[in-house]
Amino acid sequence: APVTRIAPSPTGIMHIGTARTALFNWAYAKGRGGRFLLRIEDTDRARNTPEAVEAILDGLRWLGLEWDGDAVSQSARAPRHAEIAREMLKKGAAYRCLSTQDEIAAFREGAKARGGSTLFRSPWRDVPDAEKPDGGAIRLRAPREGETVIRDAVQGDVRVRNDTLDDMVLLRADGTPTYMLAVVVDDRDMGVTHVIRGDDHLTNAARQVQVYAAMGWPVPEYAHIPLIHGPDGRKLSKRHGALGVAEYRAMGFPASAMRNYLARLGWSHGDDEVFGDAQLIEWFDLAAVKASPARLDLQKLEAISGRHIAMTADAALLHGIRDFLAATGAAPLTEGQADRLLAAMPHLKERAKTYPDLLEKGHFALASRPVAPDEKAQKALTPEARGWLAELTPRLREGSWIRDDLEGIASAFAEAKGIKFGKLAGPLRAALAGRTVTPSVFDMMLVLGREETLARLRDAAE
Ligand code: GLU
Repeated sequence: APVTRIAPSPTGIMHIGTARTALFNWAYAKGRGGRFLLRIEDTDRARNTPEAVEAILDGLRWLGLEWDGDAVSQSARAPRHAEIAREMLKKGAAYRCLSTQDEIAAFREGAKARGGSTLFRSPWRDVPDAEKPDGGAIRLRAPREGETVIRDAVQGDVRVRNDTLDDMVLLRADGTPTYMLAVVVDDRDMGVTHVIRGDDHLTNAARQVQVYAAMGWPVPEYAHIPLIHGPDGRKLSKRHGALGVAEYRAMGFPASAMRNYLARLGWSHGDDEVFGDAQLIEWFDLAAVKASPARLDLQKLEAISGRHIAMTADAALLHGIRDFLAATGAAPLTEGQADRLLAAMPHLKERAKTYPDLLEKGHFALASRPVAPDEKAQKALTPEARGWLAELTPRLREGSWIRDDLEGIASAFAEAKGIKFGKLAGPLRAALAGRTVTPSVFDMMLVLGREETLARLRDAAE
């Protein structure tokens, strides 16, 4: 069974590109009875703060992309990376290079002046290690002839001429491993069989393949997926909108919708636009990943989100709303609010694209007496309208609290007043919800119950 992984560098946010890569790795593994692992590439000390790591873990958890086993810290594995570098040294697959930074710079200057390749060619490559002074960096003894082939499920065979690659450093003179070595050793030790990642790592792959070859380790399957671009087709940046998963969470998109949307960025399954996790896991395949960049499209996300909200169970939506409120630092729902909101949910789902849409339409369920009308609702509560409410309230009290009775009483009242029911509905909405856009007045009355409904009507009539 495949073993995949997401290997984010903690930069402070969980980038949506990283989230999509994680989703692909997750779906690929889960659809094949495999494992999805997490490695934090925390070797950049300046950026490696606990908060930056937490942002990654938070993003993955919110998206529901639970990783198997413990998260691996790359920095903690430095001794292991050094061990492999020394093993390569012993095998002759690597050598100690004592060139200083100044010497390397001078070499490049000279090469440039001669109009030749500026790839550094270490003079120490062919000196037996026993004859060298101690110390230095450990470099890969990379092949100079032929080519290195990356067999890639998305890009096809990518060939890199070996004479375009230098002998990269594996272990620096100070004993710290390079990123290129660490990735290979970690993937090897974690048993990773499939490396699915952004195609910005394609050139690294050639070097990494050389390390696998030098160690005699099997090369994992590669799938380098095109990056996400902005709606204008350019490389995604801040001016295109939200880049961090946390921002989408704070906009109130359900995690299930986000998964669906991210899955569709660069991958498709026929014409299927809206689907759940089970289908994604069943359908996901690297062969259907597109080789050209996907474009971010907020309207599409909203459309998918609306469909997810419509098909999500009421209790699950309530759960999502609670998470949304917590994530945005808003006050949590009281028990009473939660009960009413849940009861109202079937009437809120239509046309809602986000949790804030649900909360706005469900305002009546959250409000408590006295319900403060917004500006539009205030306008609906004219003196005449308030008079109607005052007269209607005792009549409603007489009915039994079922829809037929409530509708009957309200329309009989409107008829007696010589007005259309629609004229009465505005003030009723304003009184019950303090809003003009609400579920139907009878749905609200039933959710609120007799006492609360009558009390709100009385408040507004005064
Ligand atoms: N740490 C790299 C990144 O965040 C990913 C490396 C990899 O997947 O091999 O872009």
